[in-house]
Amino acid sequence: MSISNNINQILSQITDNVKLVAVSKTKPVEDILEAYNGGYRIFGENKVQELSNKFEVLPKDIEWHMIGHLQSNKVKFIAPFVSLIHAVDNYKLLKTINKEALKNNRIINCLLQIHIAKEETKFGFSLDEVSQMLEKEEASSLTNVNIIGVMGMATFTDDNDVVGSEFQYLANCLKELKSKYFNNKPDFKELSMGMSGDYKIAVEKGSTIIRVGSSIFGGRSYQI
Ligand SMILES: *Cc1c(COP(=O)(O)O)cnc(C)c1O
Repeated sequence: MSISNNINQILSQITDNVKLVAVSKTKPVEDILEAYNGGYRIFGENKVQELSNKFEVLPKDIEWHMIGHLQSNKVKFIAPFVSLIHAVDNYKLLKTINKEALKNNRIINCLLQIHIAKEETKFGFSLDEVSQMLEKEEASSLTNVNIIGVMGMATFTDDNDVVGSEFQYLANCLKELKSKYFNNKPDFKELSMGMSGDYKIAVEKGSTIIRVGSSIFGGRSYQI
């Protein structure tokens, strides 16, 4: 199967309201170009350096998503072009994104990462921490960030019930945050969840953005 076939295969399994981010991390630009030449435009990376390098050399009509953990001091490198930052997990980062967006005369779309997995190592807010941030901090005064939803990663397990209930929990978080803080903000509606191993479950639970890497580009030699 070619990369474009893999993308089309996945697209055929999802409806128009679900966006597929083709996760190209660790893969060469040739692979991205193959997908690009097949008509695909939406790619995701999880490292600032790699994302910037690929942005530089690839066509400028690509929609780039930063899906990985992001350090505040690196925001400036992607602020000029990034389309969506998936993993905002602290207020300082949000403020920094706002500052860099302002410098670039842009409004940058962001998702709040919520910790839904059992693993300790995964980044993210708890639902309470998100509420605290939205209540205490001046999040609404940040003019150049646009919070459009939440993102999460399920536990790495074969147990579909565990994964399903974690995705359901994230879907509930989106609903709760929407009703408490974003009720008059129609574009707060995005649910970024689902990877190669679990995107079908994620879509069943209401995912609007799936982030799929290895099922499109093949396995990676190291797991990130
Ligand atoms: C690597 C990665 C993905 C894609 O993982 P696959 O299992 O290869 O589909 C999705 N989301 C994040 C945050 C990632 O780092």
